[in-house]
Amino acid sequence: DPRIPKISKAIRVIPDFPKPGILFQDITTLLLDTKAFKDTIDLFVERYRGKDISVVAGIEARGFIFGPPIALAIGAKFVPMRKPKKLPGEVISEEYSLEYGTDKIEMHVGAVEAGERALVIDDLIATGGTLCAAISLLERVGVEVVECACVIELDGLKGRERLGDKPLFVLVNAA
Ligand code: 5GP
Repeated sequence: DPRIPKISKAIRVIPDFPKPGILFQDITTLLLDTKAFKDTIDLFVERYRGKDISVVAGIEARGFIFGPPIALAIGAKFVPMRKPKKLPGEVISEEYSLEYGTDKIEMHVGAVEAGERALVIDDLIATGGTLCAAISLLERVGVEVVECACVIELDGLKGRERLGDKPLFVLVNAA
């Protein structure tokens, strides 16, 4: 698709952020490029429209940027998957491991119903730990996760393998 190289070019790469040795993929520059940002949303919408998806689950924080426009366009609800202690209502949570220690994501009880079909969206997959936790959380309440989608996949971290046979759709691959 001719739109992909332009999306790729609009993503800025910043060395040594947030720590020395990390090459950070910065999607804020993609948001400044009105054509590339719209193309990004359109590519996801073209893929998921008409697939009977009733839930777009977006992962904090950058899944909150890409998820809602996709949800609106395909007629699905948007469900935020948040960092701990951010959601005011009753939550269910899922812990996952990081390089050092653990983290957690949370979702409101009652946001989704058993039997719904969901798309999980984030800006980037690295190790896949975050997406795996989101999938587990949704599956625990009986939701079928149809696919995960990210703008960027970091190659070499085997995030895709960690997802097992859960399909992953990405627009751009980065080293
Ligand atoms: P994982 O759980 O797959 O190891 O890490 C993915 C999570 O970390 C995503 O929520 C993503 O937003 C964040 N992340 C890790 N590295 C980067 C990066 O280089 N750029 C951006 N935008 N997000 C990153």
